[in-house]
Amino acid sequence: MFSSSSLLLAQLSLLSAVLASSVTCNSPIPSSQYLHDIPSWQSQNFSCTGSPAIHTIRNSLGKGLGVFATRAIEPGMVIFHEAPAILIHPPEFRDGVGYPLSGIAQLIQSAFDALSADRKAEVMSLTAHYTSAEKASPNRDELVPIFRSNAYNSGQQIGLYPKIARINHGCRPNTSYLWNARLGKQVVYASRRIEEGEELSISYIPLLHTHEEREKRLDQYGFKCTCEACALEKDEKDASDQRRKDIRQAFTDFNSHLTLTVPQSKSGKKRAQEKADASLQLVKIVEEEELADYYAQIYRIAAISHAKVEAWPAAAQFALKSYQIYLMADEQSEQTIEMQMLTSSFIESWNNHLRNKAMQKD
Ligand SMILES: [Zn+2]
Repeated sequence: MFSSSSLLLAQLSLLSAVLASSVTCNSPIPSSQYLHDIPSWQSQNFSCTGSPAIHTIRNSLGKGLGVFATRAIEPGMVIFHEAPAILIHPPEFRDGVGYPLSGIAQLIQSAFDALSADRKAEVMSLTAHYTSAEKASPNRDELVPIFRSNAYNSGQQIGLYPKIARINHGCRPNTSYLWNARLGKQVVYASRRIEEGEELSISYIPLLHTHEEREKRLDQYGFKCTCEACALEKDEKDASDQRRKDIRQAFTDFNSHLTLTVPQSKSGKKRAQEKADASLQLVKIVEEEELADYYAQIYRIAAISHAKVEAWPAAAQFALKSYQIYLMADEQSEQTIEMQMLTSSFIESWNNHLRNKAMQKD
C-alpha cells in the first residue's frame, strides 16, 4: 500500500494542481497571484465563485427548492464558497437549552437592518419552520425563524448563508463544509462523487446519532428526513445506527491518546498498538457510513495513532489525507498547518528509518 515516501511528496505537489482546477474566478489570474501554489480564491484580493456551470437551484420533489449538480463533481472539489449575509457572535450556548433566542434576536435584527434592500429580500425569501407559539402569535416575527432554520456555525459565530441554505439536508450528505475564518466564508465541497443531475445534500445536525435521535433533532426544521440513510430497511438501519454510536464512542476514547509521545514500556507499546488498530477500525466504519464531515478528524486520529507505534508510512499517509481536506478551506488555518507539519515530520521519520535500515545492512 505504501511504496515510498517520495510518492507522498509527489501527491503533495499534485494537490495544488487539483485544487487549482476545481475553482474558476471572475477575472484572469496572473501566476504571481498564486501563493505557494494555492488557488488564489483563498487570497483576499480575489472574488471567485466556482464554476458557474457546476450547480443550479431548482425545485426538489417534496422539499421546496434544492441545489443540483449540472455536471459530475469529483470528491474534494470545491463547489462554491459564500460569505454570510448575517453573522453574529451569540451569547453563551447552554447545554440542553441551546442559544437563548431572546438574546440573539436583537443581534440578528441589527445585522439585518444594515443590509442592502436586495440582500434583505434574499434573506426573507428563505423558508422557515415556525414553533407552535410563533404560529399562534398575531405579530409573528419572520426573521428569527428564518435565521434559526437556516444558520450554520461559523467558528465561534453563527452565520446565515442564503445559497448554502438552499441545499437540503441528508444524514449521509454528499457535500460538506469548512469555515475559512481568515476570509469569513464557508467553503462547500463535494465529499464524494456527485453525478450530473444529482441533488446536493448537507448536514443540518451532528450526524453521530441514531435514526430516532436524528428525527427528534430534525423536528426543529419541520420535516421528516427521507434521505438514503433514513430510508434503509430495518436491519441496515440498525447497523448504521450502531456504526454511528461506535464512532461517537471512539471519538471519546481517543481523546486522551492524541499526543505524539512514543511509549517506551512494553505495556505502553502494546496499548499504543491496540489504539493504532482501533484507529483503522474507526476509519473503516466512518468510510463505510460515508460520514465525510468527520474524515479530516479520523485521518488525524489514525495518523497520530500510527506515529505512536512508529508506523511512519501509514502515519504520513493519514496525515496527508487530513491535510488535503483542511487545505480546501484555508491553507493557513490552524488545522491545515498542523497537518502539514505532521505530514512533513512523519515523512522525515520514515526517511530516517529507511536510512538507518540501509546503514545497518552495509
Ligand atoms: Zn436522513
